[in-house]
Amino acid sequence: MTARRVKKAPVVKRLIEGLRRYERTQRSQYSERFARLAGGQSPLALFVTCADSRVVPNLIASAEPGDLFTLRNIANLVPRYDGGSDDSVAAAVVYAVEVLGISDIVVCGHSGCGGMQALLRDPPDDKHLRQWLEHGKPALEHWRASQALDSSLPIHDQLSQASALYQLGNLATYPSVRSRLERGEIDLHAWWFDIASASLLAYSEQHGHYVPAITEEEHRPLPTPFLPAAANAASRPPKAPSPAAR
Ligand SMILES: [Zn+2]
Repeated sequence: MTARRVKKAPVVKRLIEGLRRYERTQRSQYSERFARLAGGQSPLALFVTCADSRVVPNLIASAEPGDLFTLRNIANLVPRYDGGSDDSVAAAVVYAVEVLGISDIVVCGHSGCGGMQALLRDPPDDKHLRQWLEHGKPALEHWRASQALDSSLPIHDQLSQASALYQLGNLATYPSVRSRLERGEIDLHAWWFDIASASLLAYSEQHGHYVPAITEEEHRPLPTPFLPAAANAASRPPKAPSPAAR
């Protein structure tokens, strides 16, 4: 039997070209690090972000291989532990915290998020998308009941910023996260990537909105008392955002 030759699609060619570039220019730089990592991982943080191809965690966080334990899904949602949690998300959170001993969790939203836009429209036809986006509804309801973090942004970006922050409260519903929060052993951070300006923002509790993440003082984690309040009730806002009209 002769193997049927399949013409390579241009997409595959591009991926292979990228692989060749990696072999030529980068593999040798990383060989030592990967050899060390082959024995196991000890990442710095659990990084929860959207599946969107324009969000590149290791690039925007200047992270090296082995630094970020990454969880990606549509709209960077963390379903509540006690509200029909998602097995994939729950497994990643529990593994990161209990097995890897991660002490920092970042939820990173982004501008122009299709998931946020879908939440604001009629439910999608596809049942999987529809069911997944249900996990974003509590954040949507909270956002509708509160004030904008930055009213200059398009509506879906305002929701995206509020939602990333809201997911921290959902994280705090996980027993392994909650117990570590209470003992001061874990810090949670809300970040937001603005695609057009390629800039990374971090939520500042002090300012009540997102600020450039490179501002050193803004790397301070959110205070623990801020979080359980959000975790206790999906409909209760994590914190009253700064006054601004939408
Ligand atoms: Zn997105």
